[in-house]
Amino acid sequence: MSRAALRLSLLLLAALGHASAGTEHDQEHGGEDPPHSQEKDRDQWGVDYPDCAGTAQSPINIDTTKTIFSPQLRPIQLSGYSLPANEKLKLRNNGHTVLLELPESLAITGGYAQQYRAMQLHLHWGSPSGPGSEHTVNGRRFAVEIHVVHYNTKYDSFKEAMVHSDGLAVLGAFLEVGPRENPYYQEIIQHLYKIQREGEAVLVPGFNIAGLLPANLKFYFHYNGSLTTPPCYQTVKWTVFNQTMLLSRDQMSTLVKTLKNDDNKPLQNNYRLAQDLHGRRVLASFQTTFFLAKHVPSGRDGSDAEDNSSSSFHAGDVLAVLFGLLFAITALSFLVYIYKHRSRNARLDLLTKSKVIYTAATAENTA
Ligand SMILES: [Zn+2]
Repeated sequence: MSRAALRLSLLLLAALGHASAGTEHDQEHGGEDPPHSQEKDRDQWGVDYPDCAGTAQSPINIDTTKTIFSPQLRPIQLSGYSLPANEKLKLRNNGHTVLLELPESLAITGGYAQQYRAMQLHLHWGSPSGPGSEHTVNGRRFAVEIHVVHYNTKYDSFKEAMVHSDGLAVLGAFLEVGPRENPYYQEIIQHLYKIQREGEAVLVPGFNIAGLLPANLKFYFHYNGSLTTPPCYQTVKWTVFNQTMLLSRDQMSTLVKTLKNDDNKPLQNNYRLAQDLHGRRVLASFQTTFFLAKHVPSGRDGSDAEDNSSSSFHAGDVLAVLFGLLFAITALSFLVYIYKHRSRNARLDLLTKSKVIYTAATAENTA
């Protein structure tokens, strides 16, 4: 019985320890990063591009205690994203990011009120010493963020669309380090050494571009924002997916270290800091209330079962927390019971002892 109690207490302690470790980890990722080379320029963007100083800018920090659950936000549907290898795509180092040009056959056909055609995708990353996603969730910055940029099919071109309030749709998702190489991202990362300098480009074989986005396209945040680089037009309907994807440590290192910027320095920390919401509302396609879960990284196929069992903030997590609470309450009641039991025993012992002493004393007296 005492062994069971010990095990329960140990489990409880372990759970508490894990929770506090998680908090520390999040703080480490959420703290503002040291200034980097491009940050000074970022402060000046508003001078040449007035929109960059506007009130509907991106990226933002997504505070999941303030997001509004909107059941009418349907799963994002993609079409034409699987490209044959004989369709060549241009991969380019533009001095700010690595950018993959996409054919117009790729489109968002569900989840948005209108249809959007793909234009290009690119990545934002940090440095060997820190993460570099643009959006943050509850203050936490992720290692990498992908943006797939689309424009409304009702406009003739991206250029025309980008100046209209319903012109653009960007799909964003986070990447973290995981145990395995990501084969979809490898289709990009394996070519980076050929485009180390600004302006260099290479043609790469087509692949399933949807593999660069999470498998779960149901759970996402949605808000109205902007391009995160000049001209910062406030014409983007943002979708930021809740499920994160994984890259191997080697892939992450190659991505962060290979490219050079326009100063021929390492192209790193190419992210903009979170912008003020100015009263904007952030919608969520799922319930985020009740508790704050950790963003659980996930792979995309069944083989990753052990590390992608679910994405964050699921019903499963709610159950897990409920069970955790129940467990904690049970364990606590058990400890209280043990404590009470012990003190009763102690009182009994005391009583027994005093009786013994009394008896003995009486015996002596009578003797
Ligand atoms: Zn971007």
